[in-house]
Amino acid sequence: MRQLIIAGNWKMHKNIHEAMEFLQELRGKLGSTPVEAVVCPPFTALAPVAEALKGSNIALGAQNMHWEKQGAYTGEVSPLMLREIGCKYVILGHSERRQYFGETDESVNKKVKAALEHGLVPIICVGETLDQREAGITEQVVATQTTGALEGLTPGQVAGLVIAYEPVWAIGTGKTASEKDAQQVNRYIRKVIADQYGAAAAEAVRIQYGGSVKPGNARALMSQPDIDGALVGGASLQVDDFVGIIENSL
Ligand code: PGA
Repeated sequence: MRQLIIAGNWKMHKNIHEAMEFLQELRGKLGSTPVEAVVCPPFTALAPVAEALKGSNIALGAQNMHWEKQGAYTGEVSPLMLREIGCKYVILGHSERRQYFGETDESVNKKVKAALEHGLVPIICVGETLDQREAGITEQVVATQTTGALEGLTPGQVAGLVIAYEPVWAIGTGKTASEKDAQQVNRYIRKVIADQYGAAAAEAVRIQYGGSVKPGNARALMSQPDIDGALVGGASLQVDDFVGIIENSL
């Protein structure tokens, strides 16, 4: 059985003070749960959030990183730095990074390999734009992004990572993919992985859905057989919504 993973992607929101208030409230409201909860604050809040999460059942993730260990890469953060702080997860290839910061399947693949090499679990984002969905090429797009991101990995490595299927048209728009459509794409991604890495890796890999997930649609989405959790943007910024999504996932 795959453990559900609900990760909050704060994007460029919350200063340290706001993050501390959020964590204090979250720890008070989130009881013990079989769901794996993860928060992914901006870089500036990672260290204090790591401190505030000590002794809790909430894991820490970053939103991006560079693939090199160190060097002359102004403005970048390395996998070793994320490990040192106590990150377990790192979101890679989010559509906003692909769209605004030029990330490609190739750079995502380098980052995925570096994350694994340094003991971080990548949450790899894939998903089609509205134009691509309307052109009927959703499966082609997610297959290319998935195989590109995973190229050169072993089945064992693939088994341990997380993929987030996030249709770009559903991110921050209030439009969610129907649970049926999301399930269909998640199942397809699992099939692509089975074809290349075998049935065991495909059965083990966790595939989230992301795009306007809210407490009200969490249950319908999470009850689908191939949806193993959610990557949540907007609704992860309010404690009650985030806790509501976690509680309603079961
Ligand atoms: P959203 O964002 O929940 O605000 O749609 C999801 C994401 O970008 O990961």
